[in-house]
Amino acid sequence: MNVFINPGHALGGNPDPGCVNQAENLRECDIALTVGSIMGKFLEEAGCTVSLLQSHNLGGESPGFPNVTDTANHSLADAFISIHVNAGGGRGAETFCYWRYGAGGRLAASIQNQLVMAMQPLDKGYLDRGIKERPSLCVLRETMMPAALVELGFIDSADVWLLKEHQEDMAKALALGIMDYWKTV
Ligand SMILES: [Zn+2]
Repeated sequence: MNVFINPGHALGGNPDPGCVNQAENLRECDIALTVGSIMGKFLEEAGCTVSLLQSHNLGGESPGFPNVTDTANHSLADAFISIHVNAGGGRGAETFCYWRYGAGGRLAASIQNQLVMAMQPLDKGYLDRGIKERPSLCVLRETMMPAALVELGFIDSADVWLLKEHQEDMAKALALGIMDYWKTV
């Protein structure tokens, strides 16, 4: 299996760090890159081929930055996963797909299930916000392979400790979710 990992926003936070929690010195771009990189290692150990590209543009909308969907479409990946962190004070995980009943929907559901299964035993307040269709998101619309965009938690809520201390567990859960999806193909 060939997996394309897209940590959200810009490498090093310039020009776009994503959401930020200044009090905790946490940035979405750093969390996404760390979780994506560790996930890639787990997937490689499981025999997958992995590509990783962090990009703050979402598919050609910002020509000065890597066009992640173009790159992914040329990579012959079997699955695409974009990693993000929410803001706005809610709790828990949600995963977006283009269409709930397509392969991307199955990918999103597998990832969401594993992430919630890994985090809820650590913190009962971490909610399963479910999978949601977002055909407007470029990474879901412009990718030719099944794609999902996961929001790991909220940077400005009680999710913070999980985002700080359990990045490896999150990465492992995402990798397991992708492997679960692969069994359904
Ligand atoms: Zn984001």
